Amino acid sequence: MESSPGCWAAYGAVLEREYGNPALLETHRLSVDAYAVQHPGRPSRQSIQSVGLHLLRLILLFEHGLTAERANDAMLHLCRFKHVFQWLEPPASRGSITVAVFFSVRRPRITR
Ligand SMILES: [Zn+2]
Repeated sequence: MESSPGCWAAYGAVLEREYGNPALLETHRLSVDAYAVQHPGRPSRQSIQSVGLHLLRLILLFEHGLTAERANDAMLHLCRFKHVFQWLEPPASRGSITVAVFFSVRRPRITR
């Protein structure tokens, strides 16, 4: 992962908030996954495997509708294949929803 100092600081603050509130722990993995795929760094075996696994979890959750528990089970299986992952060129835009949006939320609303 590579990010600007400002992004990294906001990410740290978001993680601190999540660790400090049990109701937010369920979303913690999403924060980690989203941050990782928005900050893939440069091509290396480590970044390819790390970003690939984070991206796969997001795909399983959002495109295939798996529950967090089933996605985690699938991730354990998919980890065995990470050595064949290839670098995916990041899109020009990483989207408008960034860690800055979550950093600016004072009192997160929990919906289920
Ligand atoms: Zn950033």
